[in-house]
Amino acid sequence: MTTLLITHPAGLLHAALPGHPERPDRLRAVEQALEAERFAPLVRLEAPRGTLEQIGLCHPLPHAQAILDAAPQQGFVALDADTAMSPGTVEAALRAVGGTVAAVDEVMAGRARNAFVAMRPPGHHAERERAMGFCFFNQAAIAARHAQRAHGAKRVAIVDWDVHHGNGTQDIFWDDASVLYASVHEMPLYPGTGAASERGSAGTIVNAPLHAGDGSDEFRDAFENTILPRLDAFAPDLVVISAGFDAHWRDPLASLNLREADFAWATQKLMEAADRHAGGRIVSVLEGGYDLEALAKSTAAHVAALMEP
Ligand code: ZN
Repeated sequence: MTTLLITHPAGLLHAALPGHPERPDRLRAVEQALEAERFAPLVRLEAPRGTLEQIGLCHPLPHAQAILDAAPQQGFVALDADTAMSPGTVEAALRAVGGTVAAVDEVMAGRARNAFVAMRPPGHHAERERAMGFCFFNQAAIAARHAQRAHGAKRVAIVDWDVHHGNGTQDIFWDDASVLYASVHEMPLYPGTGAASERGSAGTIVNAPLHAGDGSDEFRDAFENTILPRLDAFAPDLVVISAGFDAHWRDPLASLNLREADFAWATQKLMEAADRHAGGRIVSVLEGGYDLEALAKSTAAHVAALMEP
């Protein structure tokens, strides 16, 4: 069975204000890392353009349309202090959504074992009705809902190891017993949510906050003792990964001390859980990661693990 890599050059069109960490070079670094010989067996697919209907799975249509309409003809339009649109943002964001939906379609239909969606902007801070934190539409959440609506998945788990808490994903699924959202992240840190006491009204939110300075041991403890047992109890039909690589020790936006091997380890653990419950089905979407070298190496370690038999 194959591992799918879905991307699109439009991911480079979402421009960044000078000095902004969420910049096109991130995607260039990921693409360059995945050009190595060991990644030749990846099946590569261009991300199709997503639709308003797909965005509407997780965001009210008037809100989604307002974001699309806010894009400038030139220059930038700021939606919040650190989330701005350029003329190419809409095309990038639509391709990120469409690529994620296509990944779900391929994996749920059994045409690929798993998939990695290398696109930007990221998504996990995007709440139902609020774009924030470099994010416009919540790709991981859309993946979960699309798997349910289009493919009959009953339960979907979203595991988020981005160093920031995925407040957007938590917001979207707070009342939803059919989606498990499990996050390991640094706290206190942007966006401020993610305490262990935040469990959702259906009890399907699992937060495992770590402290600044924590590293491999604490991360693996949280994974093995908090996240994986809940994942096994939930027995999802699909595992979605919000794959941010900003918990790496080199990352400038946070203070955890993970290494590439930790991301490979976590990937293997989720593959084992997916094998037990979900026929191995995993859709992984790129979230954060702002040191280019750490991002490239960590993504390579993650994708190489996804490709292992
Ligand atoms: Zn992040």
